[in-house]
Amino acid sequence: MSHTAEADPTRRAGAILTVDLGAIAANWRGLRDAGRAGGQQIDCAAVLKADAYGTGATVVGPRLAAEGCRHFFVAHIDEGVALRAVLPDLPIYVLNGLLPGTEPDFVEHGLTPVLNHLAQLNSWRAAAQRFNRPLDAVIHIDTGMHRLGFSPEEAQALVNERGRLRGLRLALLMSHLVVSEEPANPINGEQLSRFRSFVKAMPGAPASLANSSGIFLGPDYHFDLLRPGAALYGINPLPGQPNPMLLTVRLVSRILQTRRIDALQTVGYGAAWRSARPSRVATIALGYADGYFRNLINRAHVYIAGHRVPVIGRISMDLVTIDVTDVPESACQAGATVEVLGEHLTADDLADHARTNAYEVMTALGRRYARLYIDGPENSQ
Ligand SMILES: *Cc1c(COP(=O)(O)O)cnc(C)c1O
Repeated sequence: MSHTAEADPTRRAGAILTVDLGAIAANWRGLRDAGRAGGQQIDCAAVLKADAYGTGATVVGPRLAAEGCRHFFVAHIDEGVALRAVLPDLPIYVLNGLLPGTEPDFVEHGLTPVLNHLAQLNSWRAAAQRFNRPLDAVIHIDTGMHRLGFSPEEAQALVNERGRLRGLRLALLMSHLVVSEEPANPINGEQLSRFRSFVKAMPGAPASLANSSGIFLGPDYHFDLLRPGAALYGINPLPGQPNPMLLTVRLVSRILQTRRIDALQTVGYGAAWRSARPSRVATIALGYADGYFRNLINRAHVYIAGHRVPVIGRISMDLVTIDVTDVPESACQAGATVEVLGEHLTADDLADHARTNAYEVMTALGRRYARLYIDGPENSQ
């Protein structure tokens, strides 16, 4: 017997997040082709940490693998384990590195640690001995982030003594850019020259430097493997310029109730908004528990049938109130949908309103949203 509620997970959902896999795949192809524009055989990885920036790593990963992606990065071991279940064969690199004692977890799940300092390299080499097999290793050198990665002294120690890699297969040399979204910032060039020297001193291993914005710094930054995250999901890699990426997520919420209020009445917690005129107020089904940040008070808006509608009053945990006084009543009935993220208002736009970046908006996308995956034909080749 068929079960309608399960057949259509959006039927009873208060908010629906639609992820366009075709658009993510098209973004990936576009970045890969940017890397190959000069005729080099450059590969393009996919960074799927934080559940593929909120879009769903176990769905996005296989879709990108089908598109030709051969390298995947996550942050946590458990993200790697989850991804391994749907990507049985391809390399999965764990950016956060090798936590003490987790070597067997990496080996069991076929994950590759990004080795962030010498002690991790030593532990991984010991693991290769213990398990009696060559293990893949990624070496991350710090060229200026001062967060994770081999220090300059440690990198030099490795260059001086390649035997430190005995029993390991050097899969990749990598570093991470600090200000790639600011092309004019001299830190980019400084990091590039430090990374170049290291790569030159370690011949034979593929190298990777560029995140999304780094790809747009030009071919000098491309090396052998591009490493985009944000741009795959449609976040603008060129702040202040037109976004070259396709939109990948749309978020709609449902109107739960619409009510009339008189002039000079307040709406919501803290009586933080007061009507200047007789008004109609609609309440929609999402809130800060879904990643709709509390500091969006008095800043954000949503769209109903093409009308720009201001968010009013405090953001509640599960509810947001909007002023629909100027929207036709017929468009504001209970159950009607309201566009929260989409063509009219992107994650980058919402981030501006919330004084944060689109990375935080995307990775905060709620776990309570019904998720709908589409594979937009307009975006496929
Ligand atoms: C997150 C991350 C990336 C991807 O960065 P984007 O700016 O999202 O493209 C690449 N490399 C490392 C080491 C990262 O942590």
